[in-house]
Amino acid sequence: MSDFWLSIKDLPEQGREFEVSDQEVWTVPIREFNIQASITRNLHARFSIFPGQNGYLIRGVLRGAVKIPCDRCSAAEEIGLDAAFEFFEESGPVTDKGFGGQSILRFSQGLPEINAGAMLWEQFLLTQPIKHLCSDKCQGLCPKCGQNLNLADCGCDRDEADPRMAIFRNLKINT
Ligand SMILES: [Zn+2]
Ligand SMILES: [Zn+2]
Repeated sequence: MSDFWLSIKDLPEQGREFEVSDQEVWTVPIREFNIQASITRNLHARFSIFPGQNGYLIRGVLRGAVKIPCDRCSAAEEIGLDAAFEFFEESGPVTDKGFGGQSILRFSQGLPEINAGAMLWEQFLLTQPIKHLCSDKCQGLCPKCGQNLNLADCGCDRDEADPRMAIFRNLKINT
């Protein structure tokens, strides 16, 4: 993951707006986790941070576009992102080490900072569906010859391609 710390000292009550368009926030973890995704329109986050009683309210939007292969036929599919997000990040008890736990908040030389890199990577992941399909009706690839069945039918008898049936295919019947 790409750490990207923003200073959030002296936030006014009406919040402060931030913008992040450093692509490394997303390209570094995409590489690191070996995710099959490529950014086709630069990602851009714009968000406001509001100080609260014991934490911060963060509200913004993540925009851009990525190309991700379909889970069934592996055709690359472009997904436009325009995702609003809003959450409250509790600052927790402040110790001499700063904020406790695996927080995206920390104190650096006594001043609060937020890890916008970690936060915006998580927001990116939240925009992604569990399965990437080019279409609900995607037929996938023929398990026998690899033909993309959305484009043409290869004519393979795909029931026979079931490996559990192989033993029966090779069975010779002596008469
Ligand atoms: Zn597909
Ligand atoms: Zn086939």
